[in-house]
Formats: sequence, C-alpha cells, structure tokens
Amino acid sequence: MSKNLDMHLLLQNSRAYAEGFLSEGEVSSYIPQLAAQNPTLLAVSIISPDGAYHNTGNHEEFFSIQSISKVISLIYALMTLGEKAVFNKVGMEPSGDPFNCFIKLETAGEKPFNPFINAGAITTTSLLANNITFDELLGFTCKIFGDNVAPCETVFAEEVAAGKRNRSMAYLMQSKGVLGDDVEKYLDYYFRLCAVLVNTKHLAHMGAVLASGGKSPTNGQEIVPPRIVSIVKAIMLTCGMYDGSGEFAVSIGLPAKSGIGGGIVACGGGYGIGTFGPALDAKGNSVGGIRILRHLSEKLELNLFA
Ligand code: GLU
Repeated sequence: MSKNLDMHLLLQNSRAYAEGFLSEGEVSSYIPQLAAQNPTLLAVSIISPDGAYHNTGNHEEFFSIQSISKVISLIYALMTLGEKAVFNKVGMEPSGDPFNCFIKLETAGEKPFNPFINAGAITTTSLLANNITFDELLGFTCKIFGDNVAPCETVFAEEVAAGKRNRSMAYLMQSKGVLGDDVEKYLDYYFRLCAVLVNTKHLAHMGAVLASGGKSPTNGQEIVPPRIVSIVKAIMLTCGMYDGSGEFAVSIGLPAKSGIGGGIVACGGGYGIGTFGPALDAKGNSVGGIRILRHLSEKLELNLFA
C-alpha cells in the first residue's frame, strides 16, 4: 500500500473512531446560523510535511471560523505592530475561565489575560483596526488559508445582534484605557473576522503554515516570520482550547485553536491539520475534532511531550 493510501486510511479510521462520540456534544445555539448546523457532520484534512493534501468526511462543508480568527488577529497584530505594542495591551497567561468571561478584568488588573479569550481578541483586533483596513486584514487571512475566503454577511449580522456581552466587555476595557475610542469599529472587525467561512482544507493550510515555521505549503514563501510562529504556537498550546487547554495539552500535546463553529486547527511534526464537527462539548470544543486529533496524534506520534 502506498504512503498516500496509508494516510487516507488513517484519516478514515480517525473519523470512524470519532463518530462514536458525536452524540456527547451539541451544536452552539447563540446565533441561528450555528444552531442550524448538522451535529453529525465530521471532517478532517491534513497536509503532510511533503505538501500532500488528504481529506476525509465532509471536508468541502463551509463553516464560520469564529475563535480561530483570534490566531489570525494575533499574528497580524504582531507582524504589523510588534511584540511590545501587542503584549503591552494583552497578556500571555491562561485564564482558566470560559472564553467570554471578563471577571478578571475587574479583579486581576486591566489587561486581558491572553489574546484567545474574547476580551484579549477584541484588544488585538482594536490595535489592528486603529492601523489597517478590514480589507487588508482579510487579505492576510486569505494568505493564511491559502484561498480567497470571505465573511458570511448573515453570520456577521447575527453576531452583531447577539454580541451584547462582547460589547459590554469592549466598553469596560475602553473605560480602563485598554481600548481606544472607536469601540464599535473594533467590534465590527472582530465579528466580521469571526464570520469568515472556511472548510477543513483551509484550516489544514493554516496548520501547515504554522507547522513549517511560517511558510506556504504550496510555494514555500514566508507568510509569517518564524519568531511570531513560535510565540503564537506557545499561546495556542496553553490557551487555544478554551478552558480545556490543559487537558488537551496532556492528552494530545499539540498547539491547536478551536472555534465555536466546530473547527479546530492544529499543527505538529510538520503536519497541518484541520477538523470540523459542530457537535461541541461543554467548553465549546468540537467533540469529534478532539477525538480525531487524539487518534492522529497517537498514530503519527505527534504529541510534543510523549
Ligand atoms: N463570535 C464568537 C464570540 O465572540 C466567537 C466564539 C468562539 O468561537 O469562541 O462570542
């Protein structure tokens, strides 16, 4: 059997194993577009270190990136403004709280704990919005995903309508001087980036960029400087899976970031991996995606700590 067929079989096996757990999860329901998702969808795409793509399941199905956008805004803020400007406004410590919690903004200092909780992502997005157009940010997002992706206007409108909690934390941070004055513009950028539609092939491309130290898996050109890739992967490992990041690091041992739309991007051993399964666990992580990653990490020996 060829190496390619082996990889395809591995993906199919990982999906078959994960399917058995889907009934443990539920789709997100805070906006109608997510509530309408089919919880039985499940897909995985992988790009090997040699650049070969493999997919299985519903890999052409589009879904909104949601919190995976937080990785992109962090990367681009670091690239355009530098480490000092970014980490002056946002920390790099796990919060241990759910993604939309902002209690620590009142009890533990002004700065959001990290760029992957909502408060932190709205902060990195605000830094970008003060300096660049949304189209420039979207242009960079397309490079990360290796394709012409775009926000879904319906998801965007629903995010705006449901975004009272995000709006509250943004105005609280503005009152403390963490955010500048243009709060509605920052939220607009944040919600728009959350609403970008992708499939697992796009996430695997993003994973491959991170896995290779910042290079495009198709032409080898640098998309992200290596220093920034290493910062971002460290924060993905410690904060990328909401308040389930510690358990994910222990059991799977890969830098990863999930979104409430059901996507997960992961990287390790030169592989870029994208999974999709909208049935989520209580912390907001894809039940099927986590199981697929557990299987792949074990079989490909990707766990950083094993
Ligand atoms: N748009 C979502 C929010 O900010 C993103 C949630 C997520 O994927 O964690 O509430």
